[in-house]
Amino acid sequence: MFDSLQERLGSILNNLTGRGALSDADVAAALREVRRALIEADVALEVVRLFTDRVREKAVGAAVVKSIKPGQMVVKIVHDELVSILGETSETIDLNAPAPVVVMYVGLQGSGKTTTTGKIARRLTDRQNKKVLMASLDTRRPAAQEQLRQLGEQVKVATLPVVAGQSPVEIARRAVQAGRLGGYDVVMLDTAGRTHIDEPLMAEMAEIKQAANPHEILLVADALTGQDAVNLARNFNDRVGLTGIVLTRMDGDGRGGAALSVRAVTGKPIKMIGTGEKMDALEEFHPKRIADRILG
Ligand code: GDP
Repeated sequence: MFDSLQERLGSILNNLTGRGALSDADVAAALREVRRALIEADVALEVVRLFTDRVREKAVGAAVVKSIKPGQMVVKIVHDELVSILGETSETIDLNAPAPVVVMYVGLQGSGKTTTTGKIARRLTDRQNKKVLMASLDTRRPAAQEQLRQLGEQVKVATLPVVAGQSPVEIARRAVQAGRLGGYDVVMLDTAGRTHIDEPLMAEMAEIKQAANPHEILLVADALTGQDAVNLARNFNDRVGLTGIVLTRMDGDGRGGAALSVRAVTGKPIKMIGTGEKMDALEEFHPKRIADRILG
């Protein structure tokens, strides 16, 4: 992820730092190139605009600072604004609520929801000593509940026993109740996906939300889908309300547009990133580290 963007920005900014003095025209020309590089990296247009506007504003005002070379100043501004659109601080999953804390995962089919549910459950169990119960609310795909059960065995996290014939909302209620009665700290609800967003999916998510009162609603989105992931996040956020986003397949060879846009477009933080198929391939999202990486 980010390789080509890193290369492009690197050469644009190197050009700037190599020079002693910069005119407004130099800065404007560099910004045009930055803009093009971001668009090619599949960053949402509104984010590209916001980003370049902010950099331009600061770069023009900063030109009078004599102590630092102007080129380095622009590089610093680009870095700071990159961190700013990525979300400044890293935010983790918030479990600060009465137990059992309900965490609901939403997203499209194949985005990595079940895998991510298992990864996060394992992490909370191993690192924070939490007692976690996972439940699959996917009644549409016959193998889905079994897939989560097997994953639970693998990561040694409890799963809600399957009762045939229950609706997703009924399973959600039963999971929360089992969480309460069983003394669980966290109940995770792995909801059903679809191949695309449609009204029945959104209605189902809203209904589950109402029944289970989740403290976290995390969208699991495939980072490789770029703009589609951003539109997905916007839709889910408008319709169901999100508390955070998990981007999967950050290990893939994507252009990085989703990772760079989704926070600014939705206002919701990227809380975790998936970096592989294995159960430990999960990382916290650190805006500064990502900006450092992109800018070399
Ligand atoms: P769901 O339909 O949303 O529940 O998706 P799954 O959890 O079944 O995942 C679909 C596929 O994506 C599986 O083969 C996972 O191993 C794979 N997957 C999930 N997360 C990641 C990730 O971060 N990186 C990679 N490379 N593969 C992932």
